[in-house]
Amino acid sequence: MIELHLHLDGSLRVETALDLAKIQNITLPTEDLKELRNLMEVPEDCPTLHECLKRFDLPIMLLQTEMAIERVSFELVEDLHKLGVTYAEIRFAPQFSTEEGLTQDQVVAAAIKGVKRGMEKYPAIRCGLILCCMRGADIEEKNLETVEVAKKYMGDIVCAVDLAGAESLFPTKMFEPVFAKVKEYGIPVTIHAGEAIGEVSGPESMRKALEYGAKRIGHGVMAIEDETLIQELIEKDITLEVCVTSNYHTKLVPSLKEHPIKQLFDAGVRVTFNSDNMIVSNTNIHKEIEILKTQLGFTDEEISTMQKYAREATFIK
Ligand SMILES: [Zn+2]
Repeated sequence: MIELHLHLDGSLRVETALDLAKIQNITLPTEDLKELRNLMEVPEDCPTLHECLKRFDLPIMLLQTEMAIERVSFELVEDLHKLGVTYAEIRFAPQFSTEEGLTQDQVVAAAIKGVKRGMEKYPAIRCGLILCCMRGADIEEKNLETVEVAKKYMGDIVCAVDLAGAESLFPTKMFEPVFAKVKEYGIPVTIHAGEAIGEVSGPESMRKALEYGAKRIGHGVMAIEDETLIQELIEKDITLEVCVTSNYHTKLVPSLKEHPIKQLFDAGVRVTFNSDNMIVSNTNIHKEIEILKTQLGFTDEEISTMQKYAREATFIK
């Protein structure tokens, strides 16, 4: 099983969140595991993508030390292995873990250490790390630093950069200088685009991502509105990292059944299915497969085809 789109800070264990808070003397709103899980999951009535993104505040608060970052990276590799995943690319934004004095370089080094420890313990799984630049105001310097750190660590673990965050508030076109640097360094790119409803977050955003050299697009669901763009995705062999449950939670689709993943797949787009966030979206690769089969009419053979697309699109070969 292959996972191309999975966020570290959206996938940490509730038990670990509680433990990390204790170790680091951080007071959580609750110490009850069930209540804490509710606080970390996206509520059914979350109105917009940027509202949902607030769910990351709690895990990010806990991920400000090398110990914490190394531990959650290791544990995610362990959890994925136990789910039967054999290849995963885990992504996170190093700039979010610098609030207590760590540099982005130290953050990434700690994550690499955790991932390596996980792969040493479970040799059946291979994992890479994607470093996310973030959408936001006055953030260019931090994003450029992420790109420099990516360049330094590019290799057997760090394998690409991404752009994540509130797409409708901070359009893809704002990040031209950052991706010019990425292009100059020849770092592989995936970009969250076509993830939100709105003028700046639809096909236009996806076209910008392609212009920046993205070979993969995170979600890309809004392509469904634009036949020309669909043809472009097919011609350029672009892979979409679709996350059905997450798209439902962020209100991109009104119900799971109305998700356009099957239409995109049937049109010939290289569609893959992914979890996005195992805790925030309360999902995993098996639950996603179940939804594809029961709600969206995919056959086992079509699911295998999407896994083949995923295999062909991995950043680590
Ligand atoms: Zn994502």
